[in-house]
Amino acid sequence: MRRPLLIAALLAALPSPVAADEPPPYPFAGPPLAAPTLQLTGGQWFDGAVFRPMHWYAVDGRLTQRRPARIDATIDLAGRHVIPPLAEAHAHDLQNGHHAGKMARNYMARGIFYTVQLAGLPADIAPYRDFLGQPGSVDAAFSEALLSASDGHPLAMILDSAGPMGETLTPEAARDRFYWSIDSAADLDAKWSRIAAARPKMIKVILIDSANYAANRRKPELFGRNGIDPALVPEIVRRTRGVGARLIAHADTAADFKVAVDGGADVVAHLPGYRIGRFNAPADYRIDDATIAAAARRGVTVITTTAASRFAIQRQPETRAAITANYRDNIRRLRAAGVKLALGSDSFGGSVLDEIESVDRLNVMPRAELLRVATSDTPQLMFPGRAIGAFHEGAEASLLALDGNPIDDLGALKRVRVAVKQGELLGGR
Ligand SMILES: [Zn+2]
Repeated sequence: MRRPLLIAALLAALPSPVAADEPPPYPFAGPPLAAPTLQLTGGQWFDGAVFRPMHWYAVDGRLTQRRPARIDATIDLAGRHVIPPLAEAHAHDLQNGHHAGKMARNYMARGIFYTVQLAGLPADIAPYRDFLGQPGSVDAAFSEALLSASDGHPLAMILDSAGPMGETLTPEAARDRFYWSIDSAADLDAKWSRIAAARPKMIKVILIDSANYAANRRKPELFGRNGIDPALVPEIVRRTRGVGARLIAHADTAADFKVAVDGGADVVAHLPGYRIGRFNAPADYRIDDATIAAAARRGVTVITTTAASRFAIQRQPETRAAITANYRDNIRRLRAAGVKLALGSDSFGGSVLDEIESVDRLNVMPRAELLRVATSDTPQLMFPGRAIGAFHEGAEASLLALDGNPIDDLGALKRVRVAVKQGELLGGR
């Protein structure tokens, strides 16, 4: 690719850096800026079901109801509706440095403080990842290992995108560079130490039309668009657990969903049915009740990505009714069974706000529940271990104060008047 060469040329032109073991000269010897202690009055706070008046303090980036000795500033929330910040469970817009700066600002401007990037190469992310995850910037988690077949997705996408860049890229050169090419247990064995070397927290595996895996590999028009051998999933799950990571399964059809759930995946990255494949029927996207029950029992998280169906609907408008019917049918039964849902848009240039509106239009759950899924379930499921997504003693002091009640009018989510992240008041949006 051209970019690494360009970067190499730029680096070569720079003066050599200070020796790594010498601390750099630092002109400022005084104490760091104190974190302000905020008093937050007059708001109506979302408790996961309803809004009610509460009074909080933000001290050292955490919420407390115990009045601190010192209050630096009082913010009158003036009756506004206060929610935990939004979270995006499935995106790809921070995966390379060309877009990351602008896209990271877009997140903050929309009140989306948490995002999960479901791909990305460790070497691409390394230069800027430490600029993310600050009080003033979006928190991003990355799936840093992507496993697919030698003729699997995203190979076709990678080869297609190389052409317009004036580059020629062969499948051989793309494999094990942009994704891990795995066709057999022997491949897993041979490549696993390199896959694990990046210490991924999430490993993603591509499943596409698993029921027809063998037949699809013989169709030239599906070259680069297939999934991994579904028989490999349990072994991939076992190895993923072994390195302390979570397995994320990209699922396309209901058969893929079943392979993911039965194989032990932690997260299914797509609700089946965001498109009707050219060799598939609408019924191929209906998840069966037994698999839904298993997903609930095993605590599998399912990312909705219903907004991503608009790309398929644009290409094939005649599929709209079937896609919508499948979504309603699947989400209603997943919800009734208690399967954990997270909202993700998988829409470059869009956001989880599109996903919230998309799920709302399906009319499959009450607004208050949708708001809870958006502001509590999604951040907590995708960023386990963080005290986020709810207002309680010791929780991270992060909030959005809205003009209007989003349960009555989802448009209120776009009217953020006060935003605080980890105790810091944000501005300049
Ligand atoms: Zn995706």
